[in-house]
Amino acid sequence: LSLLFVPRLDRGMEIFMKKVVKFGGSSLASAKQFKKVSDIINADKARRFVVPSAPGKRDSKDEKVTDMLYQAYEAASTGGSYKKVFEKIKDRYQSIIDGLGLNLNLDMEFKKIEENFLAKQGKEYAASRGEYLNGMVLTNYLGCDFLDAAEVIFFNEDGTFDAEYTNAEISARLENVKGKVVIPGFYGIDHSGKIRTFSRGGSDITGSIVARAIHADVYENWTDVSGFLIADPRIIKDPAVIETITYRELRELSYMGASVLHEDAIFPVRAEGIPINIRNTNRPEDKGTMIVESTCKRPRYTITGIAGKKGFCSINVDKAMMNAEVGFCRKVLEVFDENDISIEHMPSGIDTMSVFVHQDEFEDHEQRVVAGIHRKAKPDSVEMESGLALVAVVGRGMKANRGTAGRIFAALAHARINVKMIDQGSSEFNIIIGVRECDFESAIKAIYDIFVTVEL
Ligand code: ASP
Repeated sequence: LSLLFVPRLDRGMEIFMKKVVKFGGSSLASAKQFKKVSDIINADKARRFVVPSAPGKRDSKDEKVTDMLYQAYEAASTGGSYKKVFEKIKDRYQSIIDGLGLNLNLDMEFKKIEENFLAKQGKEYAASRGEYLNGMVLTNYLGCDFLDAAEVIFFNEDGTFDAEYTNAEISARLENVKGKVVIPGFYGIDHSGKIRTFSRGGSDITGSIVARAIHADVYENWTDVSGFLIADPRIIKDPAVIETITYRELRELSYMGASVLHEDAIFPVRAEGIPINIRNTNRPEDKGTMIVESTCKRPRYTITGIAGKKGFCSINVDKAMMNAEVGFCRKVLEVFDENDISIEHMPSGIDTMSVFVHQDEFEDHEQRVVAGIHRKAKPDSVEMESGLALVAVVGRGMKANRGTAGRIFAALAHARINVKMIDQGSSEFNIIIGVRECDFESAIKAIYDIFVTVEL
């Protein structure tokens, strides 16, 4: 019998780990926030790949630098007066530089930006400068390397992201980097050499792309909340934080309106199974939310989260003996397809089927759709109901717990809420409930109480 000496790997492990840390606009809105960011980065050697946003709001009345850049560009490129906003942008950076006591002069950068604005280099170029300049300030403050996103993040000429080319470029450029490196978020370059941006909030996507390319152990996304909340804080006072959520659950909740992270930020890391950790720059001691591919950890509550949206309408189609008519649903759905309307949900009964759509998308096509259904499917009646809301109750724990649906409906009945529609995904981690818009908030409260308040 030989005894092997196995070194303990957990201690000092962080040296080998690679973390991408993305900081949102509010985390980098002032010199005070920059200091917190630097402390966070320096607290963990693995935090080497740093993706900053542009300076965001310092308080609720403040302006985001990105918004000011759009404004200044709009004025400059149409011969309007842009100087005032431009000066305000300069002042924002200067106050950060002064507050940190840095020896950095951005005059030449601003001169070039102004020239490019007047030469109409594009709205996306303009917006991208917020991240670019913030990246320069952060690089100077941390005393590390800078990698311009325009050298490694690529877009196709139609503005779509070129994922595979980008992935190869970033891997090649960052493979041998030993120290820390700042890569500004939100933008890249297209194959014709034009600066392009992702949609608003897109620095989250950059962080995810970098994490995938360098095979990060974790993608930390630092913001101003301590994680993903179980429900909307505008509806539920101080809702609990979700400790662990799967990508699938997150996708369902974000689709239904819950937002912390840009929706498209999930895909790059998901392809590699890299977890995302949502953290709070103002409370670094909080663990935040872990977003993972899958987990065997038991969720704290039966449900993971509740989200919902208003603004739906349902088209209810009736026909006696519909169940026996092959192709009936297809004929109805074709009409929506022909009118370019996407369908949200489609509960059906023996002689009825309902189609849920976004009211604002549907309204202008309403009569054409009704006529189309009559022509194609020959129903007995087509009726519409507007002012509906959908509530999604999501949770991997629902599968293991019997009676979840029963509890939801008992809670809604108790709160005197009429349920208009029920749709449970076959994967059993998602129940969608249709209610009237006026019942939306009370429905969310009732469901939160029955699962979270009661299970606490
Ligand atoms: N600065 C950009 C925006 O305000 C991108 C970002 O912050 O993620 O949308």
